[in-house]
Amino acid sequence: MTDLSGKVALVTGGSRGIGRAIVSELAAAGCRVAVVATSEKSAEAGAQAAIDAGAEGKGYAADVSDAGRAQEVVEDLVATWGGVDILVNNAGVTRDTVLMRMSDEDIDSVVDTNLKGTLYYCRAVTKPMMKARSGSIVNISSIVGITGNAGQSNYAAAKAGIFGLTRSLASELGSRGIRVNAIAPGYIDTDMTSGLPEKVKEVSLQRIPLSRFGQPADIARGVRFLVSEAGSYVTGTTLVIDGGMSL
Ligand code: NDP
Repeated sequence: MTDLSGKVALVTGGSRGIGRAIVSELAAAGCRVAVVATSEKSAEAGAQAAIDAGAEGKGYAADVSDAGRAQEVVEDLVATWGGVDILVNNAGVTRDTVLMRMSDEDIDSVVDTNLKGTLYYCRAVTKPMMKARSGSIVNISSIVGITGNAGQSNYAAAKAGIFGLTRSLASELGSRGIRVNAIAPGYIDTDMTSGLPEKVKEVSLQRIPLSRFGQPADIARGVRFLVSEAGSYVTGTTLVIDGGMSL
């Protein structure tokens, strides 16, 4: 039900953390996986995760907030591997502080990477997926886009925007056999959370009914479900994977 043999997947932010786990999961399921990350070195590290899982891997150095580069990456991938069946928009950054102190740069970088990057890659894959009359897109948002969080107005706005994009695009593309879904992770152990103060970690853990932080693989398994045959009647929805943190 979750075999993905022969599929081509593109994962943004696949060099580390959640993205890297998604690369490994999709490669283990049989996909060829292309990875977008900010530098040649990090993109190659992501591609290596696919190779380590026994699949083909390919890296692209690209800033996801560069619309022209998104188009180039997708065109190159289609020319090289013949299409793109799965897109996972995972690249993301945080720049946390209260809004009163937030710089234009803090706002722009978070909105450009998390929200505009997702829009650009969704747009770029639409044509080849429509031509193939099939495809699956998963956009990685956050429970913060649902609940909000003090000190993360920029990030919460960008992640909430992803829900509107996901539902709209699912409506646009459903009749073409293309599904679009979002995942809202809770607190996941990665570089993004490792630098948080111990007090914040303690308080966060207390808010999680399942009494543990999430691991990148918890999110990767959700992606595998959504893009596979098992999720073939699921579109326009958000899968919350947070150990109950947002309850
Ligand atoms: P990490 O900080 O561990 O990794 C971020 C990834 O995004 C890296 O691969 C990085 O590439 C890439 N990236 C960042 N900026 C850009 C850019 N401008 N262009 C291309 N690639 C970029 O993050 P996580 O694994 O923790 O998070 C992954 C996603 O999950 C994000 O969207 C995040 O918002 C979301 N999320 C995370 C949660 C958590 O608790 N960790 C909770 C909820 C959501 P490089 O290695 O080249 O820097």
